[in-house]
Amino acid sequence: MLGWSMNLFRVRGILLSVHFTFFLLLAVVAWDGWQGLPEEGVAGGWGGLAANVAILLAFFTCVVLHEFGHSFTAMHYGVGVRRILLMPIGGMAEFDSIPREPAKEFLITLAGPAVNFAIVALLALAVGWPQGWPWQFHNYEATAVGFALLLQKWNLAMGLFNLVPVFPMDGGRILRALLATRLPYLRATFIAATVGKILAVAGAAAALLGFDAPLTAVLFAFIFFAGEVEYRAVKRREIEDAYWRAALARIYPLTPVTEEPPVLR
Ligand SMILES: [Zn+2]
Repeated sequence: MLGWSMNLFRVRGILLSVHFTFFLLLAVVAWDGWQGLPEEGVAGGWGGLAANVAILLAFFTCVVLHEFGHSFTAMHYGVGVRRILLMPIGGMAEFDSIPREPAKEFLITLAGPAVNFAIVALLALAVGWPQGWPWQFHNYEATAVGFALLLQKWNLAMGLFNLVPVFPMDGGRILRALLATRLPYLRATFIAATVGKILAVAGAAAALLGFDAPLTAVLFAFIFFAGEVEYRAVKRREIEDAYWRAALARIYPLTPVTEEPPVLR
């Protein structure tokens, strides 16, 4: 399904791969930089191309660091991490399994956004805090400090965006882990998925009625179904686990079932 990707290198055994669509994004961004913005007096050419490519690579380096945050925390708890796949929409770490202990899932998930906030804090120490509304990503000065401030805003946005409590974002998993400290895992998933669906419906309604933004509404539709997919996957796993536990208990009493299908996040 994911198609062709290029393997770059391994860090602590984790393979870093880049999906081919990432190179399409790189080409578009490079072309954009080459053209510049003549109306606004932004020069293009090799300088514009190099600046755009540098910004994109710096941004995706932060995406990879976010995924390493998840991965290293998972490895700390003995979870195998096969690879990190980089795509235009972000990164995805492929885990062998996800611990069912809510405290571990909570920390593994929180570690991603925590990396972004750590980068924000480090850059704040180095260059201070950006002036003005943090979401105006294109208004930056073409200097080293301007570049650092832009990266800081992006990491703040990446950290906060991932904390929104909807699947497949980290926030959905964090909410589920918090609920699972008190509730059965499937019930916790159901409630977290429902919260995500309600937010998605509200977001889609706001996008369509308030902002006349149908593409954003499509994004919310995707989030709505991601909640349903997550719930169904957990339900199926619970049924399979129960089946294998019962089957194994009949053959080998006292044998725990530890094999789980691979999990993507
Ligand atoms: Zn994450």
